[in-house]
Amino acid sequence: MRIATVNGRAALLDGDRYLDLARATSGVVPATPGAFLQSWRQTQQAVTDLGSEQDWQPLAGARLGAPVPDPRQSIGIGLNYAGHVQESGLDLPDFPLVFAKLPGSLCGPNDDVLLPSESVDWEAELVVALGGPLDRGSRQEAAAAIAGFMVGQDLSDRRVQHQAPGGQHTIGKSYRTFGPTGPALVTLEELADPHDLEIRCRINGEVMQDGSTAQMMVDVCELLSMLSARLPLGPGDLVFTGTPEGIGSTRNPPRFLRPGDVIETEIAGLGRLVNTCVADSTYPTGPRP
Ligand code: ZN
Repeated sequence: MRIATVNGRAALLDGDRYLDLARATSGVVPATPGAFLQSWRQTQQAVTDLGSEQDWQPLAGARLGAPVPDPRQSIGIGLNYAGHVQESGLDLPDFPLVFAKLPGSLCGPNDDVLLPSESVDWEAELVVALGGPLDRGSRQEAAAAIAGFMVGQDLSDRRVQHQAPGGQHTIGKSYRTFGPTGPALVTLEELADPHDLEIRCRINGEVMQDGSTAQMMVDVCELLSMLSARLPLGPGDLVFTGTPEGIGSTRNPPRFLRPGDVIETEIAGLGRLVNTCVADSTYPTGPRP
């Protein structure tokens, strides 16, 4: 199944139409976006039990929001594709980089992205959402805790991210609108293999990243298991799982996002984000970030 946020409410997607889940299930599935992950088993059952007579609405003209806009935890993984580690001029890590992709940065699949500077870069990523608890879990337990997957963008202000003396990964990747996600949370039965999906990023139609989730060095189940060895994970938590090669800042010459640029982020079977960049001059002047 595909669950999205349509006009601010949780909705089931089917091609070019949607079904309001709270109305269709008489409130078994909450209307609040993302809240369905707190009662994931009931949601799955309620969707399975839906009759054929439902009030499907055309998706055209509706506004899509982030499918899970308010996760308890949103974790970013860096340096999880060898090609990206190499283009970054770094040694392969023993353990991928872990940082917070703060929930305030999340936005919808077609929202404008606000650029606070001229050093913002793109990172197409597979995002996993949890539907159950995972605490010191094995790979198998991690797989069972997964609710589904989304397309994500881990937009990053490189100047802030690498700012001396120690870098500012978290805030450099957590400015408002730096985390487009969607268009829907897609469950496993819709995907042949989440570890074999083409993942792409285009800027103004030009292909910048063209990889596969098969290139991840640490796969999703192992990432979740490793994270849960260190802190408990729970329903609604999101993990951005790293980006393949093809970012802008390591190009020659470097390429950064500019106002008017259109970012298309696509993962086969999951869908596509289309976000337009807009200059934001409201940031305070003075020392960054
Ligand atoms: Zn990233």
